[in-house]
Formats: sequence, structure tokens, C-alpha cells
Amino acid sequence: MNKAIFLDRDGVINDDEGRYYVFRKEDFKLTPQLGEQLKVLQDKGYLLIVITNQGGVARGEYTLAEVEMLNGELRKYLQAFGVKLAEVYACPHHTDYGKCLCRKPQPLMIQKAMARFNVDPAQSYFVGDRDSDMQTAGAAGVTGILVERNAGLKGIAALVK
Ligand SMILES: [Mg+2]
Ligand SMILES: [Zn+2]
Repeated sequence: MNKAIFLDRDGVINDDEGRYYVFRKEDFKLTPQLGEQLKVLQDKGYLLIVITNQGGVARGEYTLAEVEMLNGELRKYLQAFGVKLAEVYACPHHTDYGKCLCRKPQPLMIQKAMARFNVDPAQSYFVGDRDSDMQTAGAAGVTGILVERNAGLKGIAALVK
């Protein structure tokens, strides 16, 4: 089986100022040394998988295509560090507009990823900046790691096996 580090996006991969949704390239500011930090985790044998709520899609503020455009920017940036994301899972729904099964803190996106990539939850982690991310981790059976918002992933490598 594989082991994985699941990563929240806003506040972990990129800055989350909390005042607006991040969907424009100019607002997509990566956290400190993101490429270097992810390389260390990848070299420890972890698959890297992003798990993100993008409720602004349901709210009509931006489209899934714009989410994918930023995914492309992220992958392009990471390529220079030799870092590959196994997948990016995004929930485009919002509770104001109806229920779905995937929006965090529900664990479905992580469960889908674990099934697809044959991931052992006991050896895996979910890194997030909100209590709801830690709930998600618990529901998926992986270890939650709460990080300071926008502070980056420094120190995570020491916390994982
Ligand atoms: Mg976040
Ligand atoms: Zn959803």
C-alpha cells in the first residue's frame, strides 16, 4: 500500500486572506518554500494529494475551469522542484446551495483518493489550517496536522514518519 500526505489548499498551499475566494492568478500566492517543503515530503515516500473545498463555484463567483487553471499554475511551479501532485480533489458545492457528499469536513474526497491510489490511512496525514480539516482527517482515519494559516509546511517533515 502507499502512504500519502493530503493537503488542504487555501491557507496551506497558498495564502488565504479570508476576505475573498482565491481564483485569480494574481491572488494565488504560494506559502513560503512550498516547492522545497513538498520535495522533502515526496522524498520520504509520500504521495501528495490536494483536498480542497471550492464553494465559490456553487456561489457563482468563479468556475471549475478557473480552479483547474490554478491547479495548472501550481503543477508548473512544482515541476521545477521535481514535485508531482498525484491529484487535486476539489468540492465545487456549497451548503447554501444544497447538500453534497464531498464537502469537507466530510471525508469522501480523501476516501476516493485512498481507494484510487491504494493508500493506507494508518500511514497517512491530512495537513490543514482549520479545525474542520482536523475533523475531516478524523473522519477519514488519517492523522491530522494543524498548521498556522499561510505559514507554510516547515516542520511537517519532522512530524511524519
Ligand atoms: Mg484552508
Ligand atoms: Zn461537494
